[in-house]
Amino acid sequence: MKIIKVDHIGVAVNSIESSLKFFSNTLGLKLEGQETVAEQKVTTAFMPVGDTEVELLQSTAPDGPIAGFIEKKGEGVQHVAFLVDNIEEALKELEAKGIRLIDKVPRMGAGGKKIAFVHPKDTYGVLVELCQKV
Ligand code: ZN
Repeated sequence: MKIIKVDHIGVAVNSIESSLKFFSNTLGLKLEGQETVAEQKVTTAFMPVGDTEVELLQSTAPDGPIAGFIEKKGEGVQHVAFLVDNIEEALKELEAKGIRLIDKVPRMGAGGKKIAFVHPKDTYGVLVELCQKV
């Protein structure tokens, strides 16, 4: 497995619009695009920071994973995403090393990338997303 870089940091927020007051108005980050991933019941907003990005995540439904996260933990960092060169290979390698996977097979995420999540019970509480550009 080859990790190329931290692709983005996912931040769960109640409202992308109101969180932009900080991320955009205060920090000066530029909103590059917004996209809803219906299957994951989430709207994402990407803001590049150097070679990586901040990804704001707002739930589109009360029973979505982001809504559940905020209910349990409040707003905040929800996942860290690593860009890999071959996501299928990376998942196989992790599984062979005994790491539990949330997604054994990659699915399509925001930004036209293949993504898969690794179980936080095996990653010291960090929800790790692997992603690969298609
Ligand atoms: Zn992500």
